[in-house]
Amino acid sequence: MEYEAVIGLETHVQLKTKSKMWCGCANEFGAPPNTNVCPVCLGLPGVLPVANEEGLRLTVLTGYLLNCSIPSFAKFDRKNYFYPDAPKNYQITQYDKPSTAHGFVDFEFAGGMSRVRITRAHLEEDVGKNFHFARNSGVDFNRAGVPLLEIVSEPDLTSSDMAYTYLNALKDILIYGGISDCDMEKGMVRCDVNVSVRPVGQKELGAKIEIKNMNSFSGVRRALDYEIPRQIAVVKAGGKLSQETRRWDDVGGITELMRSKEQAHDYRYFPEPDLMPFEPTAAWLEEVSRRVVELPLARKQRFMTAYGLPAPDAETFVNDVPLADYFEQVTATAKNPKAVANWVINNLRAKLTETGTPLAEVKIKPADLPDLVALVDGGKISSKIAQDVFAEMFATGEAPAAIVEKKGLAQVSDTGAIEKLCDEVIAANPKSAEDFRAGKGAALNFLKGQVMKLSKGKANPGLVGEILERKLQS
Ligand SMILES: [Zn+2]
Repeated sequence: MEYEAVIGLETHVQLKTKSKMWCGCANEFGAPPNTNVCPVCLGLPGVLPVANEEGLRLTVLTGYLLNCSIPSFAKFDRKNYFYPDAPKNYQITQYDKPSTAHGFVDFEFAGGMSRVRITRAHLEEDVGKNFHFARNSGVDFNRAGVPLLEIVSEPDLTSSDMAYTYLNALKDILIYGGISDCDMEKGMVRCDVNVSVRPVGQKELGAKIEIKNMNSFSGVRRALDYEIPRQIAVVKAGGKLSQETRRWDDVGGITELMRSKEQAHDYRYFPEPDLMPFEPTAAWLEEVSRRVVELPLARKQRFMTAYGLPAPDAETFVNDVPLADYFEQVTATAKNPKAVANWVINNLRAKLTETGTPLAEVKIKPADLPDLVALVDGGKISSKIAQDVFAEMFATGEAPAAIVEKKGLAQVSDTGAIEKLCDEVIAANPKSAEDFRAGKGAALNFLKGQVMKLSKGKANPGLVGEILERKLQS
């Protein structure tokens, strides 16, 4: 019997706010331990939380970016548990009335498009961090109370590679939208994985096993690559799986049992009495919706269709937004956007790195790159000469036509002049001429190179080829 995996992901993402969710402490990574703390995030008696409006905005904005609906009524709840890194002994979260629900993420996978439905993205708060030393342990509460979004997917994923690709697509969306920096090294994104297996064709799901607190996407992929075959082996051997929580051992490359899964009622959720429900007005939502940006996939598709770029070029622009904006600005007047993209991606980018010039200080005027392309396309200069012209444009900001004129770089298409050069080269290289006549095609390229050299790169290479061949064959 064949088995298939059913995977859902809960992705926790720290929101990019200046301060924490319920107090004014800085939301900042890397500060000395317990320096960004106050009575509120330390859970001292008698304090009250005050919601960070930007945290609420980023939550709703995420909802828009993930195609969710935004309910007109949301509320906050207490999730009660004891952990040494959660001083309040409860976490403020959204239980049955989250701020966003029922969305989806589309992404490219295995040569086609895939869609993962989003159950909900709800707002909660991060906890502190435990440190274990040789003889004692410590806890740093700087992270306690940092706004955290939990993005819950439907169990629409079927393989470790698909989960990995989805997570990267989700991360790109969140970075694009300014929701989070998603810096994995700083723990800004963590995942819980729910995975079960079932015989192919069976409707009902197998026992759901949760793998907790993975802090890298490659870790998620490896954990699934371990866990899916493990579950299939248990079932195939006639064993029974039960709902449980497991821990991923990244060094050992295995998952281990942590606890049999707790039920929601174990957390004794109840409405947070210190916070009002969240009922956004139409005007407030309208303001947030104005921050919606074009998402990476849409951008890629637009660059491919509007400018005729191949996928790798479009991806380069998706990954470098300022460069893409520059390209769009200069290509507005271009007849050949594909060639302009080549100049931007290959030449301009290299020059920027080489000279340490910020993009904003580039001297080349917007219309000049399309003009350079037009000079090449029109046969006015060779693509080799164009390289020199480009270097000059980059250094001085002069227009390409002016540089060509000033330096006398225009391509020679005068047949008489080229014929003369060809005669010279054939006379000086009788052996190569003989080789060509004897059927060695490569000799023609050598002779062509010699003519180009003699013309200082200015002879029209197409004409040179034609004339040489004609002369050699006659
Ligand atoms: Zn605080």
